[in-house]
Amino acid sequence: MKTRWFRRFLLPVLAIAMVAASCGDDGGSTSTTPATTVAGPPQFAVGTTMATIQARGKMILGTKFDQPLFGLKNPTNNQVEGFDVEIGKIIARAIFGADGASKIDYQETTSKVREDAVKDGKVDIVVATYTINDARKQIIDFAGPYYVAGQDILVKKTNTTITGVESLAGKKVCTVQGSTSLTNIQAKAPQADVSITFDKYSLCVEALKDGRVDAVTTDNIILLGFINDDPTNLKLVNKPFTTEPYGIGVKKGDTAFRAFVNDTLEKAYADGSWKKAWDATAGKTGQAAPTPPPVNRYA
Ligand code: GLU
Repeated sequence: MKTRWFRRFLLPVLAIAMVAASCGDDGGSTSTTPATTVAGPPQFAVGTTMATIQARGKMILGTKFDQPLFGLKNPTNNQVEGFDVEIGKIIARAIFGADGASKIDYQETTSKVREDAVKDGKVDIVVATYTINDARKQIIDFAGPYYVAGQDILVKKTNTTITGVESLAGKKVCTVQGSTSLTNIQAKAPQADVSITFDKYSLCVEALKDGRVDAVTTDNIILLGFINDDPTNLKLVNKPFTTEPYGIGVKKGDTAFRAFVNDTLEKAYADGSWKKAWDATAGKTGQAAPTPPPVNRYA
């Protein structure tokens, strides 16, 4: 008799009490929070550029396609590779989550079209060995810098006469239209013959190899990328004569997006992903990863 009473009345009451207790302290709410939460994509306020890119499912990245170890479309597999590309992937992961690197639409953005590409909304960001300067800041804004280069000179290994920017008088020097390299060389070596220019540095390197020009000038780290591909024929003069802080171009006035990209860079500095990106790409030139420069959150 006693056992039947226990089964019929006390057991169900005990069971109900246990279920109620497992629902927490709020008097038996029917909460269904799972024990483990699967992390979804990051959440952004509606109307921000981050939310717009995420909703589109692609981040449009303007970068170079001809600069070894920085932004190069590899003809053997059609992948775009390099340090700038890795920086782009870090930003894409911050927007989309872990699979962000697969959600990039790469657009070739040569030096002279970079400001317009950002201003006209053809790309979301430009990461393309892009020097931050006041003239460009009239048209777009920059996150970063994420690296600081210096302009230098590339010559054939056999060359003995070009030893620095002061030795370029009368020499044919190739560089790229729309670059700081062109304006700098005109200012610092006014006697140099800069009548041959192209829209890409790879074309200048070809002109150097076949003797149409005596030298190529642009940032040292870009030139080292070309030397890495042909170390028997090319050498760097190795006398940098400018400072080129590389920024990430974003639309002018988009302060929330610029702050987000700056935050993302700082996280990448702190968690080692910036250094990992360097070591896998530009580090192959033999240049050890430098201490990354502090980002400049200018007003
Ligand atoms: N960093 C320089 C510039 O932004 C030269 C390299 C380039 O043309 O991408 O103009």
